[in-house]
Amino acid sequence: MYTDRNPPSSCPNGHRLGPYKVLVGWDNLRRPPCRSWTCRTCWAVVYAAEPVQPPAIHPRGL
Ligand SMILES: [Zn+2]
Repeated sequence: MYTDRNPPSSCPNGHRLGPYKVLVGWDNLRRPPCRSWTCRTCWAVVYAAEPVQPPAIHPRGL
């Protein structure tokens, strides 16, 4: 898991992430909201946390 102190060093497509090569952001629409790193070469986004699946309204189906 990535954190501010342990940021990803490359994007999923293999580009190096570093000064002037990554946009550090915060995704408030994600559940849970988390830090994001955007590759400026291919715009792939790396998130700090895995998305949480909301509980099913009908766990056993209708
Ligand atoms: Zn990239």
